Amino acid sequence: MKVAQFEKPHILNVTTKPLRMLRQDEVLVKVEACGICGTDVHIVEGASRSSPPVVIGHEFAGVVEDVGRGVMEVAAGQRVAVDPNISCASCFFCRRGIVHLCSDLRALGVDLDGGMAEYCIVPAKQIHTLPQNMPAEVCAFIEPVSCAIHGIDLANIRVGDTVVILGGGTIGLIMLQLARDAGAARIILVEPLQYKRALASQLDADIVLDPNVSDVKTTVHELTQVGADVVIECAGKVETAQLALELARRGGLVEFFGVCPIGENISVEPNKIYFKEMTIVGSYVNPHTFARSIGMLQSHKVRLDEFLVHRFPLDGVHEALQFQREGRTIKSVLLPGQ
Ligand SMILES: [Zn+2]
Ligand SMILES: [Zn+2]
Repeated sequence: MKVAQFEKPHILNVTTKPLRMLRQDEVLVKVEACGICGTDVHIVEGASRSSPPVVIGHEFAGVVEDVGRGVMEVAAGQRVAVDPNISCASCFFCRRGIVHLCSDLRALGVDLDGGMAEYCIVPAKQIHTLPQNMPAEVCAFIEPVSCAIHGIDLANIRVGDTVVILGGGTIGLIMLQLARDAGAARIILVEPLQYKRALASQLDADIVLDPNVSDVKTTVHELTQVGADVVIECAGKVETAQLALELARRGGLVEFFGVCPIGENISVEPNKIYFKEMTIVGSYVNPHTFARSIGMLQSHKVRLDEFLVHRFPLDGVHEALQFQREGRTIKSVLLPGQ
């Protein structure tokens, strides 16, 4: 089968790989669509954790082609999405119910062969069945939406809140919609690229700011008098992470959702955190939010119609990554069957 395999930093090869036999509890999925996100770009650049050589791609869905002898819950022909994050069920963290913090967390497309391939072998427990009519590209958004739902759970938005979202890429535009559903009265989205700001406006952001034109801190303070109730950093940049701390009101919450480069720091004045009684939270992957994500997409509560999506065959993976890296698309989606 044809795969896109990450070999070592800056080397990603489209190559062929033999399919191994299925174990009892495994499912063979014929991949229909696999989304590309910033994490894939970071992995290929060697800036994010992974276990090469490995087939990347962690946002994927497809059709069950075959199942292992012990698999009862799905059968061949069923459309499925795959939760890529596999926890061990027996470590300290799993036994405390915080499975995403598992000491042995392994992810398909990061540590184990993932979805940028014609086929992927998946443990049956990672499979979620899908409605037959959900378009393949929509299925590629289930994983990022599931992560954003975890972020919204942790952001503790209250009805009537003012929420600032830093970054208007895939995640920022999903967060915008989920924050609205969570009851935010006013959402301010900050994004330097014009087409992303236009999308945010179409998706009912109340205020969109270009950080290259507006002084974001001054504007947020003018608009709110006191600062925002909740600030969600979705850009994964140290500049915006630093800015996020400046935007929250006393008693407000700042969430770090975007993946900043490992080893880079921001400066924090502890007295300010103390005096403002600020809450700072991180949001990591998608514990138990996959089914809710499917529900939100199936009911069109998260709208993707306006998103700029670019489709590529598996051979086009380098171009697809380039589009994502350069911010030329909201999401590159690989369609390995084409
Ligand atoms: Zn991702
Ligand atoms: Zn564990």
